[in-house]
Amino acid sequence: MKIFNKTKKEVNKHQKALDELIRVVGQERVLSAIEDRICYSYDGTKQKVLPDIVVRPGDTNDVSNTLKIANKYEVPICARGAGSGLTGGAVPLMGGIVFDLKNMDRIVEICPEDFVATVEPGVVTKHLQDEVAKFDLFYPPDPSSAAFSTIGGNVAECAGGITGLKYGVTRDYILALEIVLPDGSVINTGGKTLRSDSGYDLTRLFTGSEGTLGIFTKITVRLIPKPEKIRTLAAHFSDKDDAIDAADSIIDNNVLPRTLEFLDQMTITAVRGHTGTDIGEDVKALLLIDLDGTDESINHEMSIVENVCKESNAFWTKVSETAKERDVIWAARRSISPALYNIAPHKINEDICVPRSKIKEILRRVDQIKEEQPIYIANFGHIGDGNIHVNIMYNDDPGQKELAEIVVNKVMREVVELGGSISGEHGIGNKKSQFMELEIPPHEYEIMKRFKSFFDPKGIMNPGKMFIK
Ligand SMILES: Cc1cc2nc3c(=O)[nH]c(=O)nc-3n(C[C@H](O)[C@H](O)[C@H](O)COP(=O)(O)OP(=O)(O)OC[C@H]3O[C@@H](n4cnc5c(N)ncnc54)[C@H](O)[C@@H]3O)c2cc1C
Repeated sequence: MKIFNKTKKEVNKHQKALDELIRVVGQERVLSAIEDRICYSYDGTKQKVLPDIVVRPGDTNDVSNTLKIANKYEVPICARGAGSGLTGGAVPLMGGIVFDLKNMDRIVEICPEDFVATVEPGVVTKHLQDEVAKFDLFYPPDPSSAAFSTIGGNVAECAGGITGLKYGVTRDYILALEIVLPDGSVINTGGKTLRSDSGYDLTRLFTGSEGTLGIFTKITVRLIPKPEKIRTLAAHFSDKDDAIDAADSIIDNNVLPRTLEFLDQMTITAVRGHTGTDIGEDVKALLLIDLDGTDESINHEMSIVENVCKESNAFWTKVSETAKERDVIWAARRSISPALYNIAPHKINEDICVPRSKIKEILRRVDQIKEEQPIYIANFGHIGDGNIHVNIMYNDDPGQKELAEIVVNKVMREVVELGGSISGEHGIGNKKSQFMELEIPPHEYEIMKRFKSFFDPKGIMNPGKMFIK
C-alpha cells in the first residue's frame, strides 16, 4: 500500500480540513481511522493508495459542504462508487479525501409517463434496472459489473456493456445531472425532456469525466419500453475470420442484435478448462447472439442470423428455446473473467475499440504481437460495435510484467493507427493516461485541459487521472 508523502504544510491543511469536516458535515459521516481508510484505498486495478479522510455524504448539502472545505484547504478529493473501476479512477493517488457515495442510494422517482427516472449516484445499476422493469421499462446500459457498480460510477466512466450495439452506452441515456462543482456550488444540466437543443450540452461534457470536474448528486436517465422476449443463438467456428465475417453479415442483413459477442480460441480454452463447458477442441471462435422483441420478430431475425452463420462456415449452431437454455449458452461468456486466471495469475484487460471494418485487422495485428512475445493474449468482447477486450496474461517470472506493459503499448499504437480508441468502456484513469496523447491530437488535448482548469482551477478533483501533465 502506498502512502502519498505530504509536506508539513499539507499535513497541516489536511488536519484543519478534517476538524472542519467533523464540525460541519458531522462526526458520523467522517472517517479517519486507519482501518477505515484502508477499505477505501483501492479499486478494480488492485492499486492501493491510502486516503487521509473518508467522507460518506448523505445528501447534496453534505457533498457541497465537503467540497467547500476541500477547496478552501486545497485537499485532493476522489469520488468513489463501488470501486469496481478498471483504470484507477477511485484510487486516491495523492491521498486527501475519498468521497464514498454509496449512502446516496435513493431512487428519487420513476416517471413511466415521461420515460425517465431520477436517482442518486450510489444506486446500484442492476437495482435501477429491476425497479424500472416493474413498470415494463428498460434501462439498457448493462456493464458486466451491473450487479455491484453504481450509476454514479457508470456515468463518470460512461460505462458500456453487451447491449451497446443496439442500445448504445450510458451516455445515450443520461438526460440531466445535478452536479456539485469543486467550489461547492450546485448546477443542474439538461432536463427531463427527451430532447433539448438549448445551448452547450454540459450533460455530455460531464458524462465520462471520471470525477475530474465535479460530483454527480442526482442523475436523470432515459428509459425505453422493455422488450417482450429474448432468445440466444450460439455459433461455433473453426476459423476466427469466419466468425468476424458472420458478425458483419448479420448487420449487413439488417438485423441489429441485442448482443453480438465474440470469444477467441484462447478465451474458449480458458473457459473450457474452468467450467468443463462442453465446447469441442475444434472450436476456434464462438459467437453469442441475443435477439429481443416479440416472438414474431425474433423468429424472423433468428432464421436470418442462423443462415448467415452457416453461410459463414459455422459448423454448429444452437438456439435457446427456454430461459434455462439461454443460461447454459451464456455460462461460457459469464465465466470468462475468472477463467482467464487459469492461464496466468495476472491480467491487463484492455478495452480497445476500432471501427467495425477494422476488427479483423486489429485481431491479426494482436496475433502478430503475440507471436513475437512469449506472453498469452485472450481476446473477447462486443464484436458488433468493435469493442474488443484484449487480455494480456502474465505470471510472476522476472520481466513478465514489463513485457506485458510493452505489449499493451504496442497494442495501443496499432489501435490508434487503425483509427480506433484506447478505451471503449473503462475510461482512462491513471492506468491509460500515458496513451491519451496517442489518440487525442495536441490542440484537442489542450482544450480538454482548459475545461479541467475552468471547472477545477485548484486541481483538487481526482488529481493524477486522465492527464499526465
Ligand atoms: C468484473 C467487472 C466487470 C466489469 N465490466 C464492465 C463492463 O462490462 N463495462 C464497463 O464499462 N465497465 C466494466 N467494469 C468496470 C467498472 O465496473 C465500471 O467502470 C463502472 O462504471 C464503475 O462503477 P463504480 O460504481 O464501481 O465506480 P468507481 O470505480 O467507484 O469509480 C469510477 C470513477 O467514477 C468516479 N465517480 C464515482 N462516482 C461518482 C460521482 N457520483 N460523481 C463523479 N464521479 C464519480 C470515480 O471518481 C472514478 O473516477 C467492470 C469491472 C469489473 C470489476
